[in-house]
Amino acid sequence: MWVLLQKENLGNARRGMGVKLGPRRNVLSAINNGGAHGDAVSVDGGDGGSAAAVIEFSGREDVERLLAEKMKGKCKTDFKGRAEQMSEYIKKLRACIRWYIDLEDGYLAEQEKLRSTMDAENDRHAELEVQLSNALQELKAANLDLTTRCNSLEESLHKEKVDRMLAVESYEKERQDRESAETSRDMLTVDLERVTHEAKRFSEQLKMVQDTNKRLQEYNTSLQQYNSNLQADASKSGETISKLQKEKSAMMETMVSLKDLNNSMKNQLDSSRTSQQEAIRVKEEFRKEVECLRSELQQVRDDRDQSVAQVNTLNVELANCKEIAGQSTEDCESLSVKVSAFEVTCNMQQEQIQTLQKQLAFATEKLKLADVTAVEVMTGYQEQKVKIKDLEERLASAEFQIVEADKLRKKLHNTILELKGNIRVFCRVRPLLSDSDSSGAEEAPISYPTSVESAGRCIDLMNQGQRFSFSYDKVFDHVASQEDVFVEMSQLVQSALDGYKVCIFAYGQTGSGKTYTMMGQPGIDQKGIIPRSLEQIFKTSQSLESQGWKYCMQASMLEIYNETIRDLLAPGRSSNFEMTAGKQYTIKHDPHGNTTVSDLIVADVFSSADVTSLLAKASQSR
Ligand code: ADP
Ligand code: MG
Repeated sequence: MWVLLQKENLGNARRGMGVKLGPRRNVLSAINNGGAHGDAVSVDGGDGGSAAAVIEFSGREDVERLLAEKMKGKCKTDFKGRAEQMSEYIKKLRACIRWYIDLEDGYLAEQEKLRSTMDAENDRHAELEVQLSNALQELKAANLDLTTRCNSLEESLHKEKVDRMLAVESYEKERQDRESAETSRDMLTVDLERVTHEAKRFSEQLKMVQDTNKRLQEYNTSLQQYNSNLQADASKSGETISKLQKEKSAMMETMVSLKDLNNSMKNQLDSSRTSQQEAIRVKEEFRKEVECLRSELQQVRDDRDQSVAQVNTLNVELANCKEIAGQSTEDCESLSVKVSAFEVTCNMQQEQIQTLQKQLAFATEKLKLADVTAVEVMTGYQEQKVKIKDLEERLASAEFQIVEADKLRKKLHNTILELKGNIRVFCRVRPLLSDSDSSGAEEAPISYPTSVESAGRCIDLMNQGQRFSFSYDKVFDHVASQEDVFVEMSQLVQSALDGYKVCIFAYGQTGSGKTYTMMGQPGIDQKGIIPRSLEQIFKTSQSLESQGWKYCMQASMLEIYNETIRDLLAPGRSSNFEMTAGKQYTIKHDPHGNTTVSDLIVADVFSSADVTSLLAKASQSR
């Protein structure tokens, strides 16, 4: 619709450009109507503007009539008449040409219009073609789909047929089965009767079993009660066991050392036992051998007795023979040879018996010896046990003595420190710094007296030729290292670990080296009193942990500057002073002699690394 409209507009535009509308409509209508209604086009005379006759064209016949018109003049010389006739004819021809032009215009417009409609029709046609091709494709797809469905349906139909066949076959089979089942059912009914009979018997038995079951359940409940009682007892005994286990673990520790000794003893005992067992085994073997030999001996004796009896009978026979017929002497000799052989074997066996008896005696002696060594080992073991007990007692007493000695050491150490003075004042001289103090370097206004009583304790200052002497508990000259200073302080740190309160503070004018002495500078040799003290505290507390001591350490750091207390560990302390404004740092003394500052941040410390980080934080805050 929209496309068509556009085309029409285009046509109009084309029209607007090339065609004048006014006269053409009349011409068109004249053409369309085929001139049947006689609508006439009026054409005026043109340039002349004279009142000429109006010529009308209504169709092709008018034009042909005009062309067929002939000159009317009779006289060839009547030029005037002929000229008038000619001009008239020319006018008519002009009108005819104009009519033709108008007609052509109309045709052109018509052609234009038809072309535009044809374009529109073409477009519509193309559209329709596209629609048709789409529809065709859809139909093709639908057709394909339908064919596939048809195929699948055919397949399923085939399957259904096969299934039906199978079902018919199975039905046949089932019928046969049912018949056989009916026959078997008859048999089974007979069996059922038998089984019901048996079932009755079984139900009676079941009743009996249920009765016994009831009785067993009652017994079971009684057992459960007994069990709960036993469990209560068990829990009680478990507690006692846990107590005993604790004791046992304590015992075990002491036993471990003893076990080593015990093990060595046991090894000895085991070796002796094995030797004893060996001896017993040997003895047993001997005994068996002796028994064997004895039985053999018995047999031999029996044989001998038998042979003696035989000899006797033979002798009797011999006598008889001698008596009766004086049998041949050969027989007699052979018999005597036999007898002598028997005697020889008998002697040999007697010898064997003797050697075996000797062996038996030897084995019994060996056994006795083994018994004696076993007894000895046992007595040695008992002695060792007694010794171990004695050693344990001595160890306990030694431990007790150590604890006592430690207590005494603490007491003595702190009395020594007290004797040295509870308040001690040290003096440290700062070396001249190369950049700022170089001006007065050559004067050396400080000297240290070297007399026995004042060495290391006194310092002399020269000012305007006058000497001023000062004495302290200790004087550190300008070459004294951080280590030297700390050696003097370390005893105080030990006192702190022993539970005494210790305070170390530095005093002096700005630039005199307070911070250097207390904190020091990075580097192992440059560390000051605070990091060294903390290292010592952690080292000593760790070594005392093995003796059963446990130390909890907390640190807080504050600075008193212009009479105001500042918490060096407070968060945001360095950047924002307002943060700490709300807190009141006041010094408090409690009845136990402890001095604390309220609102200070207290940090738990577990290693010297913790303290190092705290010190870094504090120095940042300053
Ligand atoms: P304070 O804290 O008393 O104002 P510092 O500890 O800051 O003084 O010391 C001032 C300067 O002197 C620092 O540069 C420091 O390194 C140096 N200094 C102080 N004592 C010693 C010393 N015993 N050996 C070397 N340099 C020192
Ligand atoms: Mg300082």
